[in-house]
Amino acid sequence: MARYRDSKCKLCRNEGAKLFLKGERCYTPKCAFDRRPYRTGPHAQTRKKLSEYAVQLREKQKVRRIYGVLERQFFNTFTAAARQQGVTGTLLFQRLETRLDNVVYRSGLALSRSHARQMVMHGHILVNGKRLNIPSARVAINDVITVRARSQAALKGMHALRSNIGVIPAWMEADLEKLMVKILLLPERQDVDATLKEQLIIEYYSR
Ligand code: SF4
Repeated sequence: MARYRDSKCKLCRNEGAKLFLKGERCYTPKCAFDRRPYRTGPHAQTRKKLSEYAVQLREKQKVRRIYGVLERQFFNTFTAAARQQGVTGTLLFQRLETRLDNVVYRSGLALSRSHARQMVMHGHILVNGKRLNIPSARVAINDVITVRARSQAALKGMHALRSNIGVIPAWMEADLEKLMVKILLLPERQDVDATLKEQLIIEYYSR
C-alpha cells in the first residue's frame, strides 16, 4: 500500500503551519517548524505571491496531510461528502474525523495519527469487540472502540503522554484507564480546527 515516507516536519514547514504529525515532539521546543518556520529548499525565501489556484491547492494538501490521507482517497472522501445532503465542508470533515485511525488518535489512545494508523493496521484495535484493521473504516454513533487485551500493557505507558497534550473532543467519551472510547455524536464543524478553510477545498474540486 502506498504511503508517504519522507520527512513529516518538511510537510509542516512547506505548508507554513504546524500539522502535529509527530506526536509529543510537536509540543516540545524540538519542533522543526518552531525552530525554522520557513519553507525547505534553496529557494525557500524567494517565494512569489500565490495564485488563487495555488491557495486552494495548498489548503487541500494541508488538510490531506493532517489526516494522513492519500490523494485518491481524499478525492473519494470529498466526492462522497459532496453527494450527501448537507453542508459539503462539514460533511467532509465529518467523514475524515470519523475514520477509525483519527478516532484512536483524537481519543488519546495514540500519540499521532500515524501511530494510530499503525495500531489499527497491526490489529490492536477492536470496534464493538471485533478486530478491525482498516484505518479508513468509519465509526458510527454508539460504537465502542477498545484495545485488544494482549496489547494493553504496552499502550498504558504511552497513552499517559498523549493524555497530557490533547483535549478529547465532546463527540466521544474516552476512558484512558480502561483504554475504551465510545462515540456519542457525529462531529460538527466546531469540533475541527477553526483555521482550516474547507471553502477553498470545495473551490479547488469545483474548477
Ligand atoms: Fe510538524 Fe513540528 Fe510536529 Fe514536526 S514536530 S511534525 S514540524 S508540528
